[in-house]
Amino acid sequence: MAKKKCFVIGYPLSHTLSPAMHNANFRKLGIDCVYVARELGKEKLAGFLEELRQEDVAGTNVTIPYKEEVMKCLDEVDETAKKIGAVNTIVNRKGKLIGYNTDWVGATRAIEEKVKIKGKRCIVLGAGGAARAVCFALAKGGAKKVTIANRTKGKAVLLAEEFGGKVDAQFEGIDLQEIGKVVRDAALIINCTSIGMKEGECPVRENVLHKGMAVFDLVYNPKETKLILEAKKKGCKTITGERMLLFQGAESFKLWFGREADLKAMQEALERELDRRKNIVRIGMRGSGKMDIGKRKKNIAQMGMAESRKASAGKLEKNIVLIGMMGSGKTSVGKFLAKKMKRKFIDMDKEIEKKAGRCISEIFKKRGERFFREIESIVAVEAALMQNTVISCGGGVVLKEGNMNELKRNGIVFYLKADTETLANRVGWGRGRPLLEGREKKERLEEILGERERLYEKYADETARVRKEKEKVAEEILKKLRIGR
Ligand code: NAP
Repeated sequence: MAKKKCFVIGYPLSHTLSPAMHNANFRKLGIDCVYVARELGKEKLAGFLEELRQEDVAGTNVTIPYKEEVMKCLDEVDETAKKIGAVNTIVNRKGKLIGYNTDWVGATRAIEEKVKIKGKRCIVLGAGGAARAVCFALAKGGAKKVTIANRTKGKAVLLAEEFGGKVDAQFEGIDLQEIGKVVRDAALIINCTSIGMKEGECPVRENVLHKGMAVFDLVYNPKETKLILEAKKKGCKTITGERMLLFQGAESFKLWFGREADLKAMQEALERELDRRKNIVRIGMRGSGKMDIGKRKKNIAQMGMAESRKASAGKLEKNIVLIGMMGSGKTSVGKFLAKKMKRKFIDMDKEIEKKAGRCISEIFKKRGERFFREIESIVAVEAALMQNTVISCGGGVVLKEGNMNELKRNGIVFYLKADTETLANRVGWGRGRPLLEGREKKERLEEILGERERLYEKYADETARVRKEKEKVAEEILKKLRIGR
């Protein structure tokens, strides 16, 4: 059977933790499937949904801003998703696309772990897509009264009217500023706004919180938002957003594959990914000036390398990921490095050719760059799932943030840096260079390097200077990894 694919679609998607979580689950359960983040502009949404009908696609998750928009493009929408008014999971059943909502299941399970809401008063902050799923979960859970408090009061009032007519619980909509008036007898307050993703942001003043209430923050990155930290200080029970993320993901998986997910594998992957991002943010915040960028990167690299060394003393090591322009020698250096380090070697371009059944210039010619980039994303996720491997990436891998998020999760990224003069001398006109076709080589290389250099610098943990002898470049990498010295 062909390898299956699942996606998450949305815009932007740099925050998503779903690929890490789902791929860990697939791996643990031995399911031959890969989960890929696909950032889509609105104009590409309908076209992409058509591609989901293909046999090898199990389904997709949908996130901001398309949870409502996708509903009109589907063949069927499940009754609960219709009531909620949002779809976050699409299942491909033999070419038919069916929409579901698993956010409400995630919210219910996360709440039930900590508090009982039957007969209680609850407050929902926000009136967007997530608030809809949470309101449904609260009504299903038997909450007596739900107050929706939103910055745009009109949206809260409308949502309250909509739900009030569909479910048993009582609903009301108020302005976020009026929250002080209703908190006294609330058992649970739930943040369904996006406030809290930035350090120090909190959707309510701390004097709104009191010991008798539980606080649930849907924002999951950082894991402990300011709201959660303030709630803990007040002695409130707290529920973090990553619990909901975990349970909604497990429910989506069940819809796609008809079996239970391995929650432990998913939770561990979430924790790892959140920790990795926390470390990067922490380092990023140490300095803000231009002078600090190099230092910051070095810190990140050292962090990765320290982990790598620690791991090498015990089990497996991180991947070594080589990025850079065409002609920078990623393949020859990578092969040499792999041999020297007794590691596996993956050439992403070769893997793409295998998957597409044709060479790269043919892929560009017959299916276009977009198709090539799609296969490249799948291959990036697959490569990132490897361990103890040297990965040579195509020059354009950095164009999608999702690719680099995946590769960096378990890899130390080296940028093989060269100027256009050097690259032009090394790049031939042979097969596999479709982006250079029909142009003056050096000029085109300059153009491409101009577009990409900032991205290579951004994603690299370390840089190695391109030289004539691959051995010397590999030596510099080993020296930076402090291996073999
Ligand atoms: P959405 O539809 O865009 O709604 C955003 C809500 O936040 C709106 O009510 C908006 O108020 C409010 N808001 C945004 N910026 C604000 C500000 N500066 N001050 C006051 N209110 C503000 O987004 P969504 O899909 O509901 O998602 C909301 C959050 O939940 C996101 O952070 C998302 O990542 C998270 N989420 C988590 C999970 C999980 O599994 N943990 C699942 C789904 C969503 P207005 O109406 O006034 O614009």
